[in-house]
Amino acid sequence: MNSTNQSLKPLTTKINSAGNIEIGGCDLTALAENYGTPLYVLDEHTVRSVCNDYKKAFSGYEKVNMMYASKALCSMATAALIASEGFGFDVVSSGEIYTVYKAGVDMAKVLFNGNNKSVDELILAVELGVGRISVDNFFELSLLNEIAKSHNKVVDILLRITPGIECHTHEYIQTGHLDSKFGFDLTQIDDAIDLILNNYKNLKLHGLHAHIGSQIFETSIYGDEIEILVKEIARLDEKFGLQLDEINIGGGLGVKYIDTDCPPSVFEIADIIIKRLNDCVERYGINPPVLFLEPGRSIISTAGVTLYTIGSSKQVPKGKTYFAVDGGMADNARPSMYQAEYYAELVNKPEAELSSQVTIAGRFCESGDILIKDIKLPELEEGDILCVYNTGAYNYSMASNYNRVQKPAMVLVNNSQSDIIIKRETLEDLISHDEIPDRLIRK
Ligand SMILES: *Cc1c(COP(=O)(O)O)cnc(C)c1O
Repeated sequence: MNSTNQSLKPLTTKINSAGNIEIGGCDLTALAENYGTPLYVLDEHTVRSVCNDYKKAFSGYEKVNMMYASKALCSMATAALIASEGFGFDVVSSGEIYTVYKAGVDMAKVLFNGNNKSVDELILAVELGVGRISVDNFFELSLLNEIAKSHNKVVDILLRITPGIECHTHEYIQTGHLDSKFGFDLTQIDDAIDLILNNYKNLKLHGLHAHIGSQIFETSIYGDEIEILVKEIARLDEKFGLQLDEINIGGGLGVKYIDTDCPPSVFEIADIIIKRLNDCVERYGINPPVLFLEPGRSIISTAGVTLYTIGSSKQVPKGKTYFAVDGGMADNARPSMYQAEYYAELVNKPEAELSSQVTIAGRFCESGDILIKDIKLPELEEGDILCVYNTGAYNYSMASNYNRVQKPAMVLVNNSQSDIIIKRETLEDLISHDEIPDRLIRK
């Protein structure tokens, strides 16, 4: 069965009677006109649809905790939306903790990850009652125990481990291989557990956590990951009598950025995961654990698009034709950071005949600020609106103010209604944290 992450565009994308592209019943040329560009647009129906895919796909396993990985896109509205689908949240900073807290999320359904959580961040997590902290290393074990002790609390933890699995994704987004910066090596787990049992009385260990990487297309690695986690749990049970009952297999499912991408369906991976889990539970003789999933990209990417206005152009003699848009690497770092590819269409003439190949450049002062290399589009004119698909994940969340450019707004669309969920930054916002020391002020 197909799932939403296999779609290149938001599910509600169509060409309307005016001949323009619409999403969520909203004409994209009207959105660009009303809210300005660059503009992030998020389709509520697509987000709900993929959440439902996950819930349906994993309904065959009784104990599943869906934790949306906030780092893909974190805002108060998206937190409220995804919480309304029954998901919990994987967070990686005090900023993400605070955002989901202010959005009214049940903090017991929040899990805190990261390889170098600060003292202040751990204190905030303990004080707000974050449900699970995935402890990454020995330093953090001791630090968290101290903080828990000083708050008179016992804190519920998982241990993040490095399972030693390599996936074929970009090097920067692999995390499960052996020399990764994340998590305890398998050979260090026993020492960590010795410490928890004997020294760290303010920590309660519930299970193991791993996350292999991102934009994963291989289905088999999830099975391998489960095998490693269950085997470890059985071994630790035998050695320490722990009876750990939670495994967290992270996120990572891929999405379809361009036509040739074929990510697996949520239903396919759920099938593999549940079968392997049931099989391992029986073979290793443990009680069926609670299964935590942390999808980020696959929940939010497909639902998002970015609208840009076409501006200047340059024809290199005997070379490429460049068209520049009013955004680029500061609102979408992925092409310049890891050669990510995107698909785009012209919102105001989606069905016009495609002309020769063009390259879509950003407006930022770096030669590497190219959004899309060599794409066939209709004849482009200044003022045309370009829609870049699949920008819901790791676009706004990685956005910067490079060149002192204001971050774009984001609107949520649904049933022909559009609502601002993140306001466009203003020039005042940009200078609002600046201070000039007195001695530099000309009298
Ligand atoms: C980034 C991350 C995720 C989410 O990964 P996606 O590829 O966006 O699904 C989940 N868990 C952890 C620990 C992560 O670091």
